Amino acid sequence: MSNAHFRVPKAINEAVLSYAPGTPEREAVLASYRKQYNEVADIKMKIGGQRLDSNSKKPLSPPHQHQHVIGHYYEATEEQAKLAIEEALKAKPQWASLPWEQRAAIFLKAADLISGPYRARINAATMLAQSKTIHQAEIDAACEFADFLRFNVEFASNIYSEQPVSSEGIWNRIEYRPLEGFVYAITPFNFTAIAGNLPAAPALMGNTVVWKPSDAQVYSSRVIVEIFEEAGLPDGVINFITGDPQMITKTMLDSPHFAGLHFTGSTFVFQSLWKQIGERVAHYKTYPRIVGETGGKDFIVAHPSSHPKEVATAIVRGAFEFQGQKCSAASRVYLPESIAQGVLNFVKEDLNHIGQPGSPEDMSRFVTAVIHEGAFDKLAAVIEKVKQDQEAEIFAGGTYDKSEGYFISPTVVVTTDPKYYTMETELFGPIVTVYVYPDSQWEQTLELVDQTSMYALTGAVFSKDRYAASQAIEALQNAAGNFYINDKPTGAVVGQQPFGGARASGTNDKAGSAMNLMRWVSPRLIKETFISPKDYRYPFLG
Ligand code: NAD
Repeated sequence: MSNAHFRVPKAINEAVLSYAPGTPEREAVLASYRKQYNEVADIKMKIGGQRLDSNSKKPLSPPHQHQHVIGHYYEATEEQAKLAIEEALKAKPQWASLPWEQRAAIFLKAADLISGPYRARINAATMLAQSKTIHQAEIDAACEFADFLRFNVEFASNIYSEQPVSSEGIWNRIEYRPLEGFVYAITPFNFTAIAGNLPAAPALMGNTVVWKPSDAQVYSSRVIVEIFEEAGLPDGVINFITGDPQMITKTMLDSPHFAGLHFTGSTFVFQSLWKQIGERVAHYKTYPRIVGETGGKDFIVAHPSSHPKEVATAIVRGAFEFQGQKCSAASRVYLPESIAQGVLNFVKEDLNHIGQPGSPEDMSRFVTAVIHEGAFDKLAAVIEKVKQDQEAEIFAGGTYDKSEGYFISPTVVVTTDPKYYTMETELFGPIVTVYVYPDSQWEQTLELVDQTSMYALTGAVFSKDRYAASQAIEALQNAAGNFYINDKPTGAVVGQQPFGGARASGTNDKAGSAMNLMRWVSPRLIKETFISPKDYRYPFLG
């Protein structure tokens, strides 16, 4: 019996633990790290109720110690990809008709498992798989993930209570049906929370999902699978499949039952997916929903009135935390001549203090390894090119070494060309480029910021002058979906700063908000008339 309007628990952001020396959380996460480091995980897919492997087995290693194997996963066959669709469709009717508060309870329980008994394990797995420091793992895998699940339940409850007005003699109602078919979630390597949220958000709204994580995040994905299982998620609701992204994606998009794409990753992959969906559009039973949050070339623009130390701190944190591998990471900076040297000197001081990248197990490290050899080689080539080019020079960092881990030192490039390629292209690593502008050219610089890159994800203005801040807000209206005043452009918190960008940065459906959840429902309006007319003639007919 479901006969009451249930009130969901008020969502509150999970508190970030300190992991300071001597704290129990520090001991617990280090113990879990060592345990997982010394085991070899066998990561099978989960399709329907079955754990599946295949003949193609791939090793997994921490990016900061690439010779050490911590597990392996399997590449799906085409038959297994088809089976994932079948299982999702099979589970759909029962899941969709389950009272929504029952679905909500599963994800609320999952959130409590993440912030409680699984906290050390999911954080340690994220440190190992993605080379995150404990602080970066905590704000992602524990806090953001739990926040996504709890806030989404609150937003879902608000959506379901949103109803139309009814005039006399009729009753209008809206029900929020899940999409007809299955949803395909493709997730990136850089956030464990995004990996969990992309399949969970459509599932909360009654959809069933096939979820393909990034190869570089499979290791921490397996903890997500276990948490959902322990929370009581029925088999077939979220089907976890690993392996060749192109084959799996083609199989999903070839199905007439494909009803929605929930993607986070790079812009060019998203554009190719949109194109493939477009080519098949007449073949689908329903127009698929396409949600994609993609790349960025995020900026910090400082006004001459800004405080040099504050700007420097925003650069160091915004550009180098998690090795700049956040879609929101500051990667192009505009400094006025009058304070540029002061800001750069403070940045250099901080970088000297930060020192070399290392393992996240060494808790004195602020910077660790980049995700894999492909990323390392690409970033090393950028550094070499900058060293050759006339219009740019390395101000700090510029060293790299992959003998043990994929280590790139935090690097500051200064350029004399505001359209130099590192000001325009997403590099996704610990490299930030600075352009120094004449103080008198504030307005022209804002125009430059707006026009320099195809992306529009995050950006920040630093200014003590309210008129200048207001000018920046206006001039950069379309240059960022998340805009910060006197703060770094990273670190969006679920429920407080809904996240997403426009232009080439994505569809801006704001993950962790009601706007995103609305994409996973297809509302049905039901109008009921109490006393039906018995005469076709209207009064005007005389
Ligand atoms: P990526 O595009 O390489 O991979 C993302 C996912 O797409 C992975 O699961 C991958 O296996 C899959 N994929 C790759 N090629 C594919 C293909 N041809 N067909 C189908 N699927 C394919 O991105 P990444 O390196 O994992 O993540 C970094 C990127 O994600 C950056 O561009 C970053 O800006 C972006 N990102 C954006 C946001 C946001 O909210 N805007 C958040 C996180 C990351």
